Amino acid sequence: MIGLGTDLDSATCSRAGCRLDALWRVDWRNPRIHTGERFKTWLACDLHVDYLRDFLAARDFPLTVSALSAEKDQA
Ligand SMILES: [Zn+2]
Repeated sequence: MIGLGTDLDSATCSRAGCRLDALWRVDWRNPRIHTGERFKTWLACDLHVDYLRDFLAARDFPLTVSALSAEKDQA
């Protein structure tokens, strides 16, 4: 049901089946298909931020994890 191209406005965890509010954003890139500065963004709740980070790290994808709340405050 939940695609990987999650809408940031939804602020819901990107983990399949998880409906918790996202507290983290994971910006990542697949060097094989994403060239240049193109990044994808996943959102993660407190429970799944480690899962998603490890999922990407296991594939040697460059990634950055940052708190989502900081960005909300600026919006
Ligand atoms: Zn979650």
